[in-house]
Amino acid sequence: MTEHEQIDEAPEQSSEFIDDVTDAEAREAAHRERGTARPITVVGNPVLHRPCQVVTEFDDKLAQLIDDMFASQRAAEGVGLAANQIGVDLRVFVYDCPDDDGVRHVGHVVNPVLDELPVESRVLDDSDEGCLSVPGAYAPLPRPDYAIVRGQDMHGNPIAVHGTGYFARCLQHETDHLYGYLYIDRLSKRERKDALRQMAELTPKYETVPND
Ligand SMILES: [Zn+2]
Repeated sequence: MTEHEQIDEAPEQSSEFIDDVTDAEAREAAHRERGTARPITVVGNPVLHRPCQVVTEFDDKLAQLIDDMFASQRAAEGVGLAANQIGVDLRVFVYDCPDDDGVRHVGHVVNPVLDELPVESRVLDDSDEGCLSVPGAYAPLPRPDYAIVRGQDMHGNPIAVHGTGYFARCLQHETDHLYGYLYIDRLSKRERKDALRQMAELTPKYETVPND
């Protein structure tokens, strides 16, 4: 869906998309097995409603956080997880998500920023969206069906990730989290209320952090 121009001089910034498909299963398992699942924060917890801190230390602690996020994502059966969803105030998300063609993508992005795509080439997809931090609720939400996220890997190297369909939705959803937004913040007042009602009616299947 993107066209790459042939440029004679290679730009400094990463213009190539990372390969997050090869060995997806093994890479996800390795992260998860090194990590410890932590309980999930839910709507109302302040850490979800403000922008997270920019990551500046690319150390072992960051690698451990990413492992814990993979373990937590699997325990809660999520397809994406942002650090503030386990109560950590840092701009990192992980994903394990299929795209439009059913291809599994596994990876992480530190300090993610979404590319602004030209409005004229945008195609909106209004599938249902849900969130581990709003357990049990789903609502249709139109989003572009293609997304590009740029950021860094756990070593601080510049990376770019792109995706279609459900995976594009995931990339946008997780980046939103790190800016302090939940998907229900993008719904109408009535739809938001309905989502919160759905949440209140259901007990999550995974461990959550109680709100005060
Ligand atoms: Zn979410």
